[in-house]
Amino acid sequence: MNKNLAFIFIAIIAFVSGVSAQADRWQQHINYNIKAALDVNTNIIKGTEDIVYTNNSTDTLRKVYFHLYWNAFQPNSAMDIRSRELGKNLLNFRRGAITASNATMLGQEATQDWDRRVRDRIQKLTPTEIGYQRISQILINGKVQKLIEHETILEVQLTQAIAPKTSIKMNLQFEAQVPVQIRRSGRDNAQGVRYSMSQWYPKMVEYDYQGWNANAYIAREFHGVWGNYDVTLSLDKSYMVAATGVLQNPNAVADKFGNLSWNFTGKNIHDFMWAADNKYKHLSKEVRKGLTLHVYFKEKNASSDSAWANILWAAEKALPYMEKKYGAYPYPQYSFIQGGDGGMEYGMGTLLQGPGLGTAIHEWMHTWYQHVLGTNESLFPWMDEGFTSYAEDDITYWYNNNYARLSPYINEKEKARLKAEIETAKTQLPAIQFGNYTGYLTLAKSGIEEPMSTHSDHYNYNYSYSSAAYTKGATFLGLLGYVVTDSVRDAILLNYYNIWKFKHPNANDFFRVAEKTSGLQLQWLKEYWVNSTKTIDYGLNDIQAGNNTAIISIQRLGKLPMPIEVLITYKDGTSELHYMPLDLMLGGKASEGAINQIAHPAWQWVAPTYTFETSKPLSALKSIEIDPSYRMPDLNRSNNKLEIPN
Ligand SMILES: [Zn+2]
Repeated sequence: MNKNLAFIFIAIIAFVSGVSAQADRWQQHINYNIKAALDVNTNIIKGTEDIVYTNNSTDTLRKVYFHLYWNAFQPNSAMDIRSRELGKNLLNFRRGAITASNATMLGQEATQDWDRRVRDRIQKLTPTEIGYQRISQILINGKVQKLIEHETILEVQLTQAIAPKTSIKMNLQFEAQVPVQIRRSGRDNAQGVRYSMSQWYPKMVEYDYQGWNANAYIAREFHGVWGNYDVTLSLDKSYMVAATGVLQNPNAVADKFGNLSWNFTGKNIHDFMWAADNKYKHLSKEVRKGLTLHVYFKEKNASSDSAWANILWAAEKALPYMEKKYGAYPYPQYSFIQGGDGGMEYGMGTLLQGPGLGTAIHEWMHTWYQHVLGTNESLFPWMDEGFTSYAEDDITYWYNNNYARLSPYINEKEKARLKAEIETAKTQLPAIQFGNYTGYLTLAKSGIEEPMSTHSDHYNYNYSYSSAAYTKGATFLGLLGYVVTDSVRDAILLNYYNIWKFKHPNANDFFRVAEKTSGLQLQWLKEYWVNSTKTIDYGLNDIQAGNNTAIISIQRLGKLPMPIEVLITYKDGTSELHYMPLDLMLGGKASEGAINQIAHPAWQWVAPTYTFETSKPLSALKSIEIDPSYRMPDLNRSNNKLEIPN
């Protein structure tokens, strides 16, 4: 370590320990007391909500809004039209011809850019298959409020404004029809689960420092108000109910009509999901004092059943690593529930189509980003899906290396497959986030990339949304490790969680934590990576013989500037890592690995080339490689490495 870097290292330690305390940002608060009865013959659910809503903002509220999500499942709804319109976008990846016009020419190889689960299915729903949610009335202090329905958003014009720092009580009555399962929620999904009940009750729209988040439901994302839920569900006694929250009445008996009531409570959550089936099998385990994990699934065959059991086994093993890397899990339970149409995250639970472990870990990990931090997924989808995808790969990699083959729930064939997967991962760079980097690089070359700052409902393509949110978002954390070191990146993630939990952080909030933790300036990274589609490409430019050295020139070809690492390997087997910080950082990262690091003066971002000297002569060089750790998502790696022939 040279002197320059010793100073930087000390500065980093000081900054890391100097970041603490919770962020100061007001949050609304809500208590729901919901009583609902589901008729399993008509699929109609009727209920009441008693709400206590506290306005912690500095604003006087004259209106409030509710989500009526299930109104989306009707022909010609915004969700239906949006899906059919996106279906007209044609994508083709195999030939690298991704523009719609090219894809049209390529005919059958083109892929329609709509969610394959939704497609044009909503348009075909019959009156008994559609979904709806209707609020018949809302009372405040006995007074009827004026309601205006905007399809999936209900506007409530209040007879009495809600002053800052005051609470109001609301009572509402609702009726809903459970739609045939199209997306996430509904009845009778492809696996035969009778009820996947997400987005099932009138849910208050979140009001935060950005105002009302009254987004119509056309595809995704569920911002919400944190609070406490007390939910009583009544339905035919032959059904088992799995839900958000802790069951309060496990010994309840059916009433004279054969209905059983299930009462669940959950604290400090912003949504409540449940599922019900008359053939669920239930496994559970108290994995530590005060935390019970549950699995609910429909028995199918030996391998599927043991894969569900494996989720419970693996979740217990993975949890300590998850908490050490990403922060404490704060709730008393979590349920992996078969239902829905893929994997979808909710408070204290997930609906999973099948028992894939990667998806199960992904959805559980959403508890950290979607539920506890509560990032607004419409505005910052990459901070939710991207960070979750990053963590999923990190945890899966760790679990596969440490526990996977010890599980009593996987067979020899599966063990062999895992072993091969681990061996393959060792050859891929970057080892852990390889899939996400590949996905991002495909997006960056597609010609239809849009900035990650785009509202998630408003991308031109579903593909651009999902790649930006998932793979570019996950790649960001790999790239951040490259810029500030992996260990500082890990410290940033923990600080971010602890400072911003239950506060709806935005992109800038994350970057401020990253700056304070690393001691480096990172605004440039936010502007380029989040708000633009500019890309990274560095290449070797020139090599000259110096005075007992080699003079190496590196070229910036892409528009996105980066700090640069160059690995020089000598014929004698030694190597050195040359490091050029970017001037915009106003500092540099500490040395990371065992390789001798040589730090150079910062590369001015305005300069297209940078020249440095090696410690040994040109004749001693074996190879030169830009970004040997592959953590920099360089669009063209063919100009990164030079092997010098003997
Ligand atoms: Zn996700």
